[in-house]
Amino acid sequence: MAVETVLLAEPRGFCAGVEMAIKALTWMVRVFEPPIYCYHDIVHNRWVVEAFERAGVVFVEDISEVPEGAAVMLSAHGSAPDVVSGAADRAAIVVDAVCPLVTKVHHEVRRMADKGFDIIYIGHEGHDEAIGTIAEAPDAITLVEPEWGLDRFDPASDGKVALVAQTTLGVYEWEGVRDAAQTRYPDLWTARRGDLCYATTNRQAAVRALSPEVDVLLVVGSETSSNTKALARVAREHGTPAYRIDSADGIDPTWLEGATTVGLTAGASAPDHLVEEVIDAIGPADGVRLVNVTDEDEYFPLPPELRKMLSVLDDLVRAGFGADRPASVLDDDRAFSATAALQALTR
Ligand code: SF4
Repeated sequence: MAVETVLLAEPRGFCAGVEMAIKALTWMVRVFEPPIYCYHDIVHNRWVVEAFERAGVVFVEDISEVPEGAAVMLSAHGSAPDVVSGAADRAAIVVDAVCPLVTKVHHEVRRMADKGFDIIYIGHEGHDEAIGTIAEAPDAITLVEPEWGLDRFDPASDGKVALVAQTTLGVYEWEGVRDAAQTRYPDLWTARRGDLCYATTNRQAAVRALSPEVDVLLVVGSETSSNTKALARVAREHGTPAYRIDSADGIDPTWLEGATTVGLTAGASAPDHLVEEVIDAIGPADGVRLVNVTDEDEYFPLPPELRKMLSVLDDLVRAGFGADRPASVLDDDRAFSATAALQALTR
């Protein structure tokens, strides 16, 4: 490989929802005796899931696989109502690590279905987030893959149509369906700022910014990660060859033949040490240059059920210190990163 420069996208990697979910599951592992159960992959990244498996987490695809009386976490992608109630029926402890931005879409679906709207849901068939969201109002929703268009959507009334979306789509894919729907249904209801989350749009903006300058783009993230694959599609849309890789081992040297400048980014669930390993493997002669489009400071607190549990434990422990009470662990949560949590887990 004779690469001169790596252009490193910023923002990239962990978003606030993934940070929260990883820290929450780390707390579960620390507080409860393993095995801890987790419904679906906590986030869509193989490395992260395997790190938790080694720490005693059992991932299940059906809530009935969770033994009665166990502790269970529900994944960041948002679960269907029957999964949430099924978990509450059988588990002693249930912590729902759904991202608040996915919860917002669930609320929109319930609200518009209750008002009698037919709902276009732009998303990917079979994705965990799509399954959980559609289950909020299955009779009112029609799933539309971005490339399908609106052919399969047939509302009862053209005047009562809503459009919602999976949070991790490509911006241009979402816009294509939205524009077509607005033309066909002039009274279309959509969320004021759309449903694509800040992390999705920021990471795609960084890819758009660096794409014209690079010969090829590498995107670190898992095959199951929708926002990761969207990053590669955004680059290709701008004429830049782009490849998704799980880690440095996935680089095919032929991709880099003749490339002097390589772009690099990571999906919202990919740990940054995997990005650093890719840079080491490429070994750019002139080093790395950051392409920053915005700074992010979003923060999502731990799930309320977990905060309540930790608060009770914390009070008990701190009470033992009397007048010398140390600071509460919850006070420091914002400064505690998912990267630090994973390091503690794998130590
Ligand atoms: S990608 Fe967006 S919606 Fe998904 S967990 Fe991250 S912040 Fe939440």
